[in-house]
Amino acid sequence: MTRTHTLGFPRMGAHRELKFALEKHWRGEIGTAALEAVGADLRARHWQAQSDAGLDFVTVGDFAFYDHVANHIQLLGCEPPRFDFAAEAELARYFTMARGVADETGHEGCTHGGHGTFALEMTKWFDTNYHYLVPEFTANTRFGLASVRLFDEVAQAQKLGHKVKAVLLGPLSFLWLGKEKEAGFDRFTLLDALLPVYEQVLARLKSLGVEWVQIDEPILGLDLPDAWRNAFERSYWQLARSAPKLLLATYFSPLAENLRLACQLPVAGLHVDAVRAPEELTGVADWLPAHKALSVGIVDGRNIWRTDPAAALERLQPVADKHKGELWIAPSCSLLHVPFSLASETKLDAEIKSWLAFAVEKLDELRVLRAALDGEDSSVEAELAAARAATAARRGSPRVHRAEVALRLARAVATDDRRVSAFAQRQSEQRDRLALPLMPTTTIGSFPQTAAIRAARAAFKRGELDAGGYRGKMQAEIRLAVHKQEELGLDVLVHGEAERNDMVEYFGEQLDGFVFTANGWVQSYGSRCVKPPVIFGDVARPKPMTVEWTAYAQSLTKLPMKGMLTGPVTILQWSFVRDDQPRSVTTEQIAWAIRDEVVDLEKAGIGIIQIDEPAIREGLPLRRSRWKSYLEGATRSFRISASGVADRTQIHTHMCYSEFNDILPEIAAMDADVITIETSRSDMELLRGFGDFKYPNEIGPGVYDIHSPRVPTADEMVRLMRKAAAVVPPSNLWVNPDCGLKTRGWPETEVALANMVAAAKVLRGELALRLPRPLPGT
Ligand code: GLN
Ligand code: ZN
Repeated sequence: MTRTHTLGFPRMGAHRELKFALEKHWRGEIGTAALEAVGADLRARHWQAQSDAGLDFVTVGDFAFYDHVANHIQLLGCEPPRFDFAAEAELARYFTMARGVADETGHEGCTHGGHGTFALEMTKWFDTNYHYLVPEFTANTRFGLASVRLFDEVAQAQKLGHKVKAVLLGPLSFLWLGKEKEAGFDRFTLLDALLPVYEQVLARLKSLGVEWVQIDEPILGLDLPDAWRNAFERSYWQLARSAPKLLLATYFSPLAENLRLACQLPVAGLHVDAVRAPEELTGVADWLPAHKALSVGIVDGRNIWRTDPAAALERLQPVADKHKGELWIAPSCSLLHVPFSLASETKLDAEIKSWLAFAVEKLDELRVLRAALDGEDSSVEAELAAARAATAARRGSPRVHRAEVALRLARAVATDDRRVSAFAQRQSEQRDRLALPLMPTTTIGSFPQTAAIRAARAAFKRGELDAGGYRGKMQAEIRLAVHKQEELGLDVLVHGEAERNDMVEYFGEQLDGFVFTANGWVQSYGSRCVKPPVIFGDVARPKPMTVEWTAYAQSLTKLPMKGMLTGPVTILQWSFVRDDQPRSVTTEQIAWAIRDEVVDLEKAGIGIIQIDEPAIREGLPLRRSRWKSYLEGATRSFRISASGVADRTQIHTHMCYSEFNDILPEIAAMDADVITIETSRSDMELLRGFGDFKYPNEIGPGVYDIHSPRVPTADEMVRLMRKAAAVVPPSNLWVNPDCGLKTRGWPETEVALANMVAAAKVLRGELALRLPRPLPGT
């Protein structure tokens, strides 16, 4: 008999109940007891959904009021001492770690300090768009079993009559995901102090009658240093002493050189991700001893497509035949990464809806697959037939496959991803055309999204404001933004992005091949959820998307107006993507659509076009061996989007993060004429990499942090740019903020930009004395 289970379930609730309760609690509108009641109710409902689908266990321990890693910080008693907690209650401490403490000026603590107590750093959970709170470790970190929340949740589930499988993040992954807060210290040395606490936790779970504990060690899918790899065996021998049966769970990535290690650890079962690494299933079935349970993650936990039962069974059957021990089936990873249920998608295109499965539907897929696998097909005949019909319809649908899109990719020639001339030639033509001063000033695209802008957009979407009225309001915002930029003395202007609520959704809504859900929310961090577009078919651009706004903005000024687009990799990365063709093909389709827009902007007289690619780095595969092919595809797609224009048209790109050193050759290979990046918080340190690498094109290192309302002085920005000019040729430098300004208010933005323009003037004066020959406009 095959068993079914899930590695985890979405926490937010069918209608994002948790989000709304959390935000009420943080505003002081509901107390701890009311919030806890919402949590308990959601858990009960989510366990019921698992039980309704006939799962062999409900999963307990995946719930969190903010983040599951933060839960482990409290469970394992390693709250960082810098928070200086005294008698605060557990949940209050939890939210303080998650959100920081406001100081007397009302500024919430942010990660880079200065005000109040700053929150734990947040970072991406592997290659997902979920963000976890980063544990902080020093030589003084102590551990101790410090929270009973997990045990209470187990008791709650048991009281409701469920059979419980508890879930824990394993000790090695927990340490790996944390960060040293002390120079020269290695968090790995904490392992021996940590293991006894895990033993205690496991013993306690056992005493509660929990038979199975799923212990997640997703780092087995990473390239691990030897010390970490080698520690698995002894750690799990130690844990095995007091533990219930352990199901070691891995996901997101092939196990590769860790496959045998994972199969041989002293645990009672192993879960593998058969969606991300189907090619390893046979090896796992070979290596896993017969007395261990094999859990196959067959249903895609990272995407929203309905499982094709024929394909799944074809994959499962040989494993079932080969593995003599227990066979379990599950989603590939926690369902945290998919929306709750299709039930609330009442407006979604019915045909496309029949191709999808969200968390609740995925649980039901397990029920059907299990029956089929166990030879009880007759009991699920209707479900199997429906799933087969839907997946077949999707495969053959003309809405998915469009000959002209395929043809366009097939006809691409080697030079399609190359500009006409090399950078030096383009640079000289662009300098002649644009006649910008030395160290030109610009911004990254968006200006403050005021309440009035959001209200107008919402009214337009609801149909309360007609297209003409909406256009009038947006044009007024553009006029305002252009006027302010001219007054401030900026050199390259932007239209301000008032018409966009989101840099991917705005384009997805206008491109063929995308659909949008009403309720497809996925947790991003804390109470924040995102609703990614769904790319279901071949992507094409039926008509221009930004030309009218940009041309209007340009008509208001003689200064250059920078067109503003989102790049193909970012559009792909922040969407649910097709699983019926390689991601690289979908990216390339988007690239051609963006190229059409770039060309149309050029035709409309726009001389500078920025193609934002903030997500290139986050798309990096978890295994380094897969980086090369990803980066080749990503840079090629960017270049396709950027290469349809003449040399005199200047292409910018923007990336808002600060780790470039390991991908500098690929960043250079994108061959954007200008790249703007985030550097202010690193005090320009990261620019050193660009300097050492001799990055050939122009760079705008961010001179002020737009995440904080603090207004930087001109002196600070001068100091940062001097540092920049020491590593990058000054004639290649631009002056700009770290990122877009949409989350800021106008007053602080105006002062900051005025200071930035003043800083550029000081720098130009200094440089004019140093440079051998004057540059245009100086
Ligand atoms: N052009 C976008 C903006 O300014 C860029 C946003 C981003 O990098 N995430 O808002
Ligand atoms: Zn940015």
